[in-house]
Amino acid sequence: MALNGSHYIIMSASAGTGKDTVAKHIFHEWLAPIEKVITTTTRAPRKNNGIMEEDGVDYDFLSVDEFKARLEQWAFIEHAEYNGRFYGTPWHRVEQIIAKWKIPLSIVEVQGAANIMKSVRDRIEVLSIFLTLEPKELEARLRGRWGMTEADIQWRLAEAEKERKFIGQYDLRIENTDSRETAKIIAQITSDMIIWRTREEICKIYNVFGEVLN
Ligand code: 5GP
Repeated sequence: MALNGSHYIIMSASAGTGKDTVAKHIFHEWLAPIEKVITTTTRAPRKNNGIMEEDGVDYDFLSVDEFKARLEQWAFIEHAEYNGRFYGTPWHRVEQIIAKWKIPLSIVEVQGAANIMKSVRDRIEVLSIFLTLEPKELEARLRGRWGMTEADIQWRLAEAEKERKFIGQYDLRIENTDSRETAKIIAQITSDMIIWRTREEICKIYNVFGEVLN
């Protein structure tokens, strides 16, 4: 499928920043022409806020062997290992969204974001957003999560510190103090992209809300 001239938004944020809540607000409260790219993982489904994740909705859950078979078929735009599990962004999921004239939204860790930008930026207008939170606020949110051991919290805090070093590779940084406000900004960005505003124009406009990085 020809992807030339399409748009794509990539969002990264450390665990605990509230990216899933932001995504929920975007999809449920805004009529923005945007759709989440369902990615693939080899981790097991888990419960989030008491609700079990669903195959084909939250992720395509695969065994390691199935994942490797898809890798050999070049099914992924990018793939990464995170916390000992494999994750991958399937080409077909992105193409399906673009075919509906919508903007794909990929929520991936920093390595994946860099790889997507590398592989599609020559054909697609990609805008990248990093959601941040003050380290103290992040720790408070992680401690408020159900079922987190001290080791889990410390691993995520250390990971967040490492990920902050990659902020410079993103177009916009948004401080996620209010998930609804962040969702509103991203919905507005989406509407601006669909009327053919370029990445550079978006960066200029949204400087008033977020912080432009490059
Ligand atoms: P979780 O296991 O908590 O759902 O996700 C762990 C991390 O992997 C998150 O930062 C999430 O955004 C990221 N992630 C989810 N899908 C993909 C993917 O397809 N590729 C990459 N590189 N990261 C992903």
